[in-house]
Amino acid sequence: MPQTREELESLPGVGRKTANVLLNTLWGHHTIAVDTHLFRLGNRTGLAVGKTPLDVEKKLMHITPKQHLKNAHHLLILYGRYVCTARSPKCGECVAKTPCQWKEKA
Ligand code: SF4
Repeated sequence: MPQTREELESLPGVGRKTANVLLNTLWGHHTIAVDTHLFRLGNRTGLAVGKTPLDVEKKLMHITPKQHLKNAHHLLILYGRYVCTARSPKCGECVAKTPCQWKEKA
């Protein structure tokens, strides 16, 4: 299987997000795949504001410390799935409540 984003994206049905997941999970590349959770998290918190998933991806790649780039994708997805959820985010138990810029945080 090809190990570059360009080769992966040339395969049918594989977009940038999927290519980033494969590169990260199978080969340990420092990629961040922006799915619905990461897109929401980045924009809601102010961590990585962007109009497109690519905008958010670029900002997350820029601000994430190098030593966390391998696992950032997984950690942020899990945070978006279980804490900073689309509906009723658990702000009361969120460790990022102070820096979070979401005006509606409770
Ligand atoms: S404070 Fe609330 S909105 Fe902000 S990151 Fe935490 S869970 Fe999400």
